[in-house]
Amino acid sequence: MTQIVRKVSDLRALVAPWQRAGQIVGLVPTMGALHAGHLSLVRAAQADCTRVIVTIFVNPKQFNTASDLAKYPRTEAADLALLRQAGVDAVFSPPPEEVYPAGFATTVSVAGVAGPLEGSSRPGHFEGVATVVAKLFGMSRADRAYFGQKDWQQLQVVRRMVADLNLPIAVVGCETLREADGLAMSSRNTRLSPRARAIAPALYAAMTRAVGDLRAGDPAAMQRCYDAVLAAGFDSIDYIDLRDGDTLQPLSAPNSSARLLAAAWLDGVRLIDNIPV
Ligand code: AMP
Repeated sequence: MTQIVRKVSDLRALVAPWQRAGQIVGLVPTMGALHAGHLSLVRAAQADCTRVIVTIFVNPKQFNTASDLAKYPRTEAADLALLRQAGVDAVFSPPPEEVYPAGFATTVSVAGVAGPLEGSSRPGHFEGVATVVAKLFGMSRADRAYFGQKDWQQLQVVRRMVADLNLPIAVVGCETLREADGLAMSSRNTRLSPRARAIAPALYAAMTRAVGDLRAGDPAAMQRCYDAVLAAGFDSIDYIDLRDGDTLQPLSAPNSSARLLAAAWLDGVRLIDNIPV
Protein backbone atom coordinates (compact mmCIF):
# COMPACT_ATOMS: atom_id res chain seq x y z
CA MET A 1 0.00 0.00 0.00
CA THR A 2 1.19 3.52 -0.82
CA GLN A 3 1.40 5.76 2.25
CA ILE A 4 0.79 9.48 1.72
CA VAL A 5 2.86 11.53 4.15
CA ARG A 6 2.78 15.30 4.69
CA LYS A 7 4.94 15.78 7.80
CA VAL A 8 8.66 15.20 8.25
CA SER A 9 8.01 13.45 11.59
CA ASP A 10 5.64 10.98 9.87
CA LEU A 11 8.19 10.33 7.13
CA ARG A 12 10.84 9.61 9.75
CA ALA A 13 8.48 7.27 11.61
CA LEU A 14 7.76 5.39 8.38
CA VAL A 15 11.38 5.03 7.29
CA ALA A 16 12.95 4.17 10.68
CA PRO A 17 11.75 0.52 10.84
CA TRP A 18 12.74 -0.01 7.18
CA GLN A 19 16.26 1.10 8.01
CA ARG A 20 16.42 -0.93 11.21
CA ALA A 21 15.54 -3.96 9.10
CA GLY A 22 18.45 -3.17 6.77
CA GLN A 23 16.22 -2.31 3.80
CA ILE A 24 17.56 -0.12 0.98
CA VAL A 25 15.51 3.07 0.68
CA GLY A 26 15.30 4.88 -2.68
CA LEU A 27 14.19 8.48 -3.11
CA VAL A 28 12.73 10.07 -6.26
CA PRO A 29 12.39 13.84 -5.83
CA THR A 30 9.81 15.50 -8.13
CA MET A 31 7.70 18.62 -8.40
CA GLY A 32 4.63 16.59 -9.39
CA ALA A 33 2.66 16.91 -12.65
CA LEU A 34 4.03 13.44 -13.23
CA HIS A 35 4.67 11.92 -16.66
CA ALA A 36 6.34 8.80 -18.01
CA GLY A 37 9.81 10.34 -17.44
CA HIS A 38 9.17 10.52 -13.70
CA LEU A 39 7.77 6.99 -13.72
CA SER A 40 10.96 5.72 -15.38
CA LEU A 41 12.89 7.04 -12.35
CA VAL A 42 10.44 5.21 -10.09
CA ARG A 43 11.05 1.97 -11.98
CA ALA A 44 14.83 2.43 -11.78
CA ALA A 45 14.50 2.97 -8.02
CA GLN A 46 12.25 -0.07 -7.61
CA ALA A 47 14.78 -2.22 -9.48
CA ASP A 48 17.56 -1.28 -7.01
CA CYS A 49 15.83 -0.64 -3.69
CA THR A 50 13.61 -2.43 -1.16
CA ARG A 51 11.51 0.69 -0.53
CA VAL A 52 10.79 3.68 -2.77
CA ILE A 53 9.68 7.13 -1.63
CA VAL A 54 8.56 9.70 -4.21
CA THR A 55 8.49 13.31 -3.09
CA ILE A 56 6.15 15.87 -4.62
CA PHE A 57 7.10 19.42 -3.72
CA VAL A 58 6.91 22.50 -5.93
CA ASN A 59 9.89 24.18 -4.29
CA PRO A 60 9.31 27.95 -4.18
CA LYS A 61 13.04 28.61 -3.62
CA GLN A 62 14.05 27.28 -7.04
CA PHE A 63 11.71 29.52 -9.06
CA ASN A 64 13.25 32.84 -9.95
CA THR A 65 9.97 34.51 -10.88
CA ALA A 66 6.70 34.46 -8.94
CA SER A 67 4.72 34.03 -12.17
CA ASP A 68 6.65 30.87 -13.16
CA LEU A 69 5.91 29.41 -9.71
CA ALA A 70 2.23 30.35 -9.99
CA LYS A 71 1.94 28.81 -13.47
CA TYR A 72 3.68 25.55 -12.56
CA PRO A 73 1.16 22.70 -13.12
CA ARG A 74 -0.21 21.05 -9.98
CA THR A 75 -2.03 17.74 -10.44
CA GLU A 76 -1.71 15.99 -7.09
CA ALA A 77 -4.76 13.70 -7.33
CA ALA A 78 -3.63 12.32 -10.70
CA ASP A 79 -0.02 12.04 -9.45
CA LEU A 80 -1.09 10.00 -6.41
CA ALA A 81 -3.15 7.68 -8.62
CA LEU A 82 -0.12 7.07 -10.87
CA LEU A 83 2.16 6.44 -7.91
CA ARG A 84 -0.31 4.03 -6.26
CA GLN A 85 -0.55 2.18 -9.55
CA ALA A 86 3.26 2.09 -9.77
CA GLY A 87 3.31 0.56 -6.28
CA VAL A 88 5.62 3.04 -4.55
CA ASP A 89 5.86 2.59 -0.79
CA ALA A 90 5.39 6.24 0.16
CA VAL A 91 4.67 9.65 -1.29
CA PHE A 92 6.00 12.61 0.69
CA SER A 93 4.01 15.68 -0.34
CA PRO A 94 4.54 18.36 2.31
CA PRO A 95 3.09 21.89 2.40
CA PRO A 96 5.69 24.68 1.99
CA GLU A 97 5.66 25.58 5.71
CA GLU A 98 6.66 22.01 6.61
CA VAL A 99 9.77 22.37 4.44
CA TYR A 100 10.49 26.02 5.27
CA PRO A 101 9.17 26.69 8.78
CA ALA A 102 9.42 30.13 10.38
CA GLY A 103 13.06 30.95 11.08
CA PHE A 104 14.46 28.86 8.25
CA ALA A 105 17.82 30.47 7.40
CA THR A 106 20.13 28.06 5.56
CA THR A 107 21.06 28.05 1.87
CA VAL A 108 23.21 25.44 0.15
CA SER A 109 25.25 27.09 -2.59
CA VAL A 110 27.34 25.05 -5.03
CA ALA A 111 30.02 26.99 -6.93
CA GLY A 112 31.59 26.02 -10.24
CA VAL A 113 29.25 23.57 -11.88
CA ALA A 114 26.16 25.59 -10.84
CA GLY A 115 27.50 28.85 -12.28
CA PRO A 116 26.92 28.84 -16.06
CA LEU A 117 23.88 28.06 -18.25
CA GLU A 118 20.87 27.54 -15.94
CA GLY A 119 22.85 29.19 -13.15
CA SER A 120 23.26 32.46 -15.05
CA SER A 121 19.87 32.32 -16.85
CA ARG A 122 18.01 31.67 -13.58
CA PRO A 123 19.79 33.40 -10.67
CA GLY A 124 19.20 31.58 -7.39
CA HIS A 125 17.73 28.50 -9.07
CA PHE A 126 20.45 26.06 -8.09
CA GLU A 127 20.67 27.41 -4.53
CA GLY A 128 16.98 26.55 -4.27
CA VAL A 129 17.52 23.10 -5.79
CA ALA A 130 20.58 22.25 -3.67
CA THR A 131 18.89 23.46 -0.49
CA VAL A 132 15.72 21.45 -0.99
CA VAL A 133 17.54 18.33 -2.21
CA ALA A 134 19.86 18.42 0.82
CA LYS A 135 16.78 18.73 3.03
CA LEU A 136 14.96 15.86 1.29
CA PHE A 137 18.05 13.69 1.75
CA GLY A 138 18.16 14.59 5.45
CA MET A 139 14.42 14.17 5.97
CA SER A 140 14.24 10.76 4.29
CA ARG A 141 17.68 9.40 5.16
CA ALA A 142 17.42 7.52 1.88
CA ASP A 143 20.28 5.32 0.69
CA ARG A 144 19.90 6.13 -3.00
CA ALA A 145 18.40 9.05 -4.96
CA TYR A 146 17.25 9.04 -8.59
CA PHE A 147 17.49 12.06 -10.89
CA GLY A 148 16.86 12.52 -14.62
CA GLN A 149 19.59 13.38 -17.11
CA LYS A 150 16.94 15.67 -18.64
CA ASP A 151 18.13 18.19 -16.03
CA TRP A 152 21.80 17.45 -16.70
CA GLN A 153 23.28 20.43 -14.91
CA GLN A 154 21.05 19.80 -11.89
CA LEU A 155 22.36 16.23 -11.75
CA GLN A 156 25.95 17.52 -11.73
CA VAL A 157 25.10 20.09 -9.03
CA VAL A 158 23.57 17.36 -6.84
CA ARG A 159 26.58 15.07 -7.40
CA ARG A 160 28.98 17.91 -6.44
CA MET A 161 26.98 18.73 -3.30
CA VAL A 162 26.86 15.09 -2.20
CA ALA A 163 30.61 14.71 -2.70
CA ASP A 164 31.51 18.03 -1.06
CA LEU A 165 29.25 17.55 1.98
CA ASN A 166 29.99 13.81 2.37
CA LEU A 167 26.27 13.06 2.26
CA PRO A 168 25.71 9.31 2.76
CA ILE A 169 23.60 8.74 -0.36
CA ALA A 170 24.25 7.31 -3.84
CA VAL A 171 23.07 9.53 -6.72
CA VAL A 172 21.79 7.74 -9.82
CA GLY A 173 21.28 9.56 -13.15
CA CYS A 174 18.58 8.13 -15.46
CA GLU A 175 18.14 8.53 -19.24
CA THR A 176 15.81 11.20 -20.65
CA LEU A 177 12.44 9.88 -21.78
CA ARG A 178 11.14 11.45 -25.00
CA GLU A 179 7.86 11.67 -26.85
CA ALA A 180 7.70 9.75 -30.14
CA ASP A 181 8.68 12.94 -32.02
CA GLY A 182 11.79 13.44 -29.87
CA LEU A 183 10.51 16.15 -27.51
CA ALA A 184 11.91 15.54 -24.02
CA MET A 185 9.03 14.79 -21.65
CA SER A 186 8.48 17.65 -19.21
CA SER A 187 5.73 18.85 -16.91
CA ARG A 188 6.02 22.20 -18.72
CA ASN A 189 4.98 20.65 -22.05
CA THR A 190 1.36 20.70 -20.86
CA ARG A 191 1.52 24.52 -21.07
CA LEU A 192 2.31 24.50 -24.82
CA SER A 193 -0.49 25.47 -27.23
CA PRO A 194 -1.18 22.92 -30.01
CA ARG A 195 0.77 25.15 -32.42
CA ALA A 196 3.75 25.38 -30.07
CA ARG A 197 3.62 21.65 -29.30
CA ALA A 198 4.05 21.01 -33.04
CA ILE A 199 7.12 23.30 -33.13
CA ALA A 200 8.72 22.00 -29.91
CA PRO A 201 10.43 18.84 -31.31
CA ALA A 202 12.53 21.12 -33.56
CA LEU A 203 14.85 21.79 -30.61
CA TYR A 204 15.90 18.14 -30.24
CA ALA A 205 16.00 17.70 -34.02
CA ALA A 206 18.36 20.68 -34.43
CA MET A 207 20.52 19.48 -31.52
CA THR A 208 20.74 15.97 -32.97
CA ARG A 209 21.86 17.38 -36.32
CA ALA A 210 24.40 19.61 -34.55
CA VAL A 211 25.92 16.60 -32.78
CA GLY A 212 26.59 14.98 -36.15
CA ASP A 213 28.04 18.23 -37.51
CA LEU A 214 30.24 18.74 -34.41
CA ARG A 215 31.57 15.21 -34.64
CA ALA A 216 32.40 15.89 -38.29
CA GLY A 217 34.30 19.03 -37.23
CA ASP A 218 31.93 21.40 -39.09
CA PRO A 219 32.71 24.97 -37.88
CA ALA A 220 29.16 26.13 -38.75
CA ALA A 221 27.50 23.46 -36.56
CA MET A 222 26.46 25.69 -33.68
CA GLN A 223 25.27 28.62 -35.80
CA ARG A 224 23.19 26.25 -37.97
CA CYS A 225 21.61 24.82 -34.82
CA TYR A 226 20.66 28.31 -33.53
CA ASP A 227 19.25 29.28 -36.91
CA ALA A 228 17.21 26.08 -37.22
CA VAL A 229 15.63 26.50 -33.76
CA LEU A 230 14.60 30.10 -34.46
CA ALA A 231 13.45 29.28 -38.01
CA ALA A 232 11.23 26.52 -36.62
CA GLY A 233 9.36 29.14 -34.58
CA PHE A 234 11.05 29.31 -31.16
CA ASP A 235 10.84 32.87 -29.81
CA SER A 236 14.33 33.10 -28.30
CA ILE A 237 17.29 31.03 -27.17
CA ASP A 238 18.83 31.37 -23.70
CA TYR A 239 21.74 29.13 -24.74
CA ILE A 240 22.76 26.26 -26.96
CA ASP A 241 26.25 25.33 -25.86
CA LEU A 242 28.89 22.64 -26.16
CA ARG A 243 30.17 21.89 -22.66
CA ASP A 244 32.18 19.36 -20.74
CA GLY A 245 29.48 17.15 -19.25
CA ASP A 246 31.16 16.86 -15.83
CA THR A 247 32.43 20.40 -15.22
CA LEU A 248 29.98 22.32 -17.49
CA GLN A 249 32.95 24.35 -18.74
CA PRO A 250 32.80 25.52 -22.41
CA LEU A 251 34.43 23.39 -25.10
CA SER A 252 35.48 24.54 -28.55
CA ALA A 253 35.52 20.95 -29.85
CA PRO A 254 33.98 17.73 -28.50
CA ASN A 255 35.89 15.71 -25.88
CA SER A 256 35.02 12.29 -24.46
CA SER A 257 32.43 13.70 -22.01
CA ALA A 258 31.08 16.50 -24.23
CA ARG A 259 27.42 17.45 -24.06
CA LEU A 260 25.23 19.82 -26.00
CA LEU A 261 22.88 21.71 -23.68
CA ALA A 262 20.06 24.05 -24.66
CA ALA A 263 17.35 26.27 -23.20
CA ALA A 264 14.89 28.08 -25.45
CA TRP A 265 11.58 29.90 -25.18
CA LEU A 266 8.47 28.87 -27.07
CA ASP A 267 5.02 30.31 -26.48
CA GLY A 268 6.03 31.68 -23.06
CA VAL A 269 7.36 28.26 -21.98
CA ARG A 270 11.06 27.67 -21.33
CA LEU A 271 12.16 24.27 -22.65
CA ILE A 272 15.52 22.65 -21.83
CA ASP A 273 17.25 19.64 -23.33
CA ASN A 274 20.72 18.07 -23.56
CA ILE A 275 22.38 15.22 -25.41
CA PRO A 276 25.83 13.61 -25.46
CA VAL A 277 28.10 14.58 -28.34
P1 AMP B 1 10.74 17.72 -11.98
O1 AMP B 1 9.42 17.24 -11.45
O2 AMP B 1 10.66 18.41 -13.29
O3 AMP B 1 11.53 18.48 -10.94
O4 AMP B 1 11.58 16.41 -12.26
C1 AMP B 1 11.78 15.45 -11.26
C2 AMP B 1 12.83 14.48 -11.72
O5 AMP B 1 12.38 13.84 -12.91
C3 AMP B 1 14.15 15.18 -12.06
O6 AMP B 1 15.22 14.37 -11.61
C4 AMP B 1 14.09 15.26 -13.55
O7 AMP B 1 15.37 15.30 -14.16
C5 AMP B 1 13.37 13.97 -13.90
N1 AMP B 1 12.79 14.06 -15.24
C6 AMP B 1 12.03 15.07 -15.73
N2 AMP B 1 11.72 14.85 -17.02
C7 AMP B 1 12.32 13.67 -17.35
C8 AMP B 1 12.38 12.91 -18.56
N3 AMP B 1 11.79 13.31 -19.68
N4 AMP B 1 13.08 11.75 -18.54
C9 AMP B 1 13.70 11.34 -17.40
N5 AMP B 1 13.67 12.00 -16.23
C10 AMP B 1 12.99 13.16 -16.21
